Amino acid sequence: MESWQAILADSIVSHEELARRFPGLGPGLAEVIARYPLRINPYYLRLVEEHGAPLARQAIPDMAELHDPLGLIDPLAEEELTVAPNLVHKYPDRALLLVHHQCAMYCRFCTRKRKVGCAAMAVSAQALDAAFAYLAAHPNIREVLVSGGDPLLLPDDEIDYILGKLRAIASVEVIRIGSRVPSTLPMRITHNLVSILRRYHPLYINTHFNHPAELTTEAGRACGLLADGGIPLGCQTVLLKGVNDHAETLKKLFLGLLRFRVKPYYLFQTDLTAGTNHFRVKTSTGVAIMRQLYGHISGMAVPTFALDAPGGKGKIPLTPDYVAAYGDTLRFSNYLGEPCQYPEPKKANKAE
Ligand SMILES: *Cc1c(COP(=O)(O)O)cnc(C)c1O
Ligand code: SF4
Repeated sequence: MESWQAILADSIVSHEELARRFPGLGPGLAEVIARYPLRINPYYLRLVEEHGAPLARQAIPDMAELHDPLGLIDPLAEEELTVAPNLVHKYPDRALLLVHHQCAMYCRFCTRKRKVGCAAMAVSAQALDAAFAYLAAHPNIREVLVSGGDPLLLPDDEIDYILGKLRAIASVEVIRIGSRVPSTLPMRITHNLVSILRRYHPLYINTHFNHPAELTTEAGRACGLLADGGIPLGCQTVLLKGVNDHAETLKKLFLGLLRFRVKPYYLFQTDLTAGTNHFRVKTSTGVAIMRQLYGHISGMAVPTFALDAPGGKGKIPLTPDYVAAYGDTLRFSNYLGEPCQYPEPKKANKAE
């Protein structure tokens, strides 16, 4: 079998290569690619060719990326919340460490579009030392999210080094890796990688699948290897126009993820990232989709629909409202829309 490094090296990264493969695309895309990097590896390219639009939209640049009237360069104010190079500290008890600038594919809707794939985001070992020192000096941080870019595109020994450094900080209880390689380059999940990861438990991985066509045999094998390594798996899906903005599509995706032993964790409303406006749907569409999920499929398969508030204000759940009225009796509707009620305890009902 070809190594993942060889597959990655064979990616489409230039406008010329893209035009050769997709002759119908306009010459203007050269400008888009100069602004936001391109990478489509042969594995994901095969999926794009087999399944068309929902996968193509995620991978192939669009002129709309240059014509976004509303987008912000850094919608989550990550640069402002950066407390040491590559370390974003937004919530009291957890922090986000960006350890790599590359991904197996550059998603056109990426929140960190401003910097993924750019040499300026490349991380030096020295820069990480400052982040480790900050984490050690802030014992209230009990969970570190290791992200990027994609941390699992680093060589095995560098992943081992970073996880070792984090595990050496006593106050870091949980390590959570964010990685899209299970869906974009599943061959990266090797036995050797899993044997490294499993030395650093409790270690979680949140992966990122957006469409049921991404649930391939190879992806299933990758998730299975990680799950067999005792790594609990979650998925952060992004709600994307023309990709997965229908309940039936998301049902298939979330149920398929459960079969892969991946628990759908978040469904994200698209951030206000410059160059991604053409992917946004209204939050009300997402809430309506959630209403078609709750109760209709396994609760295990239903993620939290969340909006990451602009300006680094944090994630908030957007949940369908089933309550009609609070009072002595709670009035609400169930998942089928039938009216229901529940008598509240009386005030006098004191605990013994
Ligand atoms: C999303 C995020 C987290 C993690 O939030 P959870 O709700 O725990 O998944 C932590 N730090 C930053 C900066 C984030 O953007
Ligand atoms: S894999 Fe994640 S970080 Fe990388 S381009 Fe896609 S969304 Fe962005």
